[in-house]
Amino acid sequence: MIFCPLYSGSSGNSIFASSDKAKVLIDAGLPGKHIEKALEHIGQNAKDIDAIFVTHEHTDHTKGVGVLSRKYDIPIYANSATWEAMSKTLGKIKTENIRIIENNYINIKDMDITSYEISHDAAAPSGYSLSHKNKKACIATDLGVFSEEVSNHLEDADVILLESNHDIQMLKFGPYPYNLKRRILSNVGHLSNDDCGKAIINITNSKFKKIILGHLSKTNNYPELAYQTVVNVLKDAKIKLDKDLCLSMAKRDMPSNYIEF
Ligand SMILES: [Zn+2]
Ligand SMILES: [Zn+2]
Repeated sequence: MIFCPLYSGSSGNSIFASSDKAKVLIDAGLPGKHIEKALEHIGQNAKDIDAIFVTHEHTDHTKGVGVLSRKYDIPIYANSATWEAMSKTLGKIKTENIRIIENNYINIKDMDITSYEISHDAAAPSGYSLSHKNKKACIATDLGVFSEEVSNHLEDADVILLESNHDIQMLKFGPYPYNLKRRILSNVGHLSNDDCGKAIINITNSKFKKIILGHLSKTNNYPELAYQTVVNVLKDAKIKLDKDLCLSMAKRDMPSNYIEF
């Protein structure tokens, strides 16, 4: 499989993944042109995308979904509550490209996609696990809490994009209005750097994982701080980098971590 976050952060999210035969995007939260450019950058072409999966209706995950579907005739997959919440903002979508995920499972060619519930302030937000043969990649961002359900899906994954959204002190003392701070810190908000580190302790086991930290806040975090905070939490738990797991950062503005596994 190939797994590559094209963009990751509060300003827009999109992830490319492929198996031998299937090519998919998870979210397309930037203008279509940006997604096309990012795909080109990693040697892919938007016309070859078989499906776009949507995690939830917030615009940092959906901005380019409608445009790409119309331009390249790509089916869009989401659960029914997410469809209801996002359909107005997507614009006109061909009936046959409106695909509703039922029973949390979809198969695209030789790729199996399972969705799972995440805790976030959207209609019915989902994480996704993508598998092919015995390989598995998971997306877990926009998490108010790191639930047992999410943990169960992640513990046997090879590659994980995990949220490390904010530094709690930067958020608390930063410029956001009080209500927004409370929303982000709530159990339907976003995972802090500290909580991200604790989440990783939870899923560290005999299965070696490549973990990519992503969905960083532009205002309340920066990559070096996120990385170091997580490393410190792992060190305290005696988890060894590159032996127990490997850690990297997703980039906000360009493709990162092109992982073949
Ligand atoms: Zn969101
Ligand atoms: Zn988001």
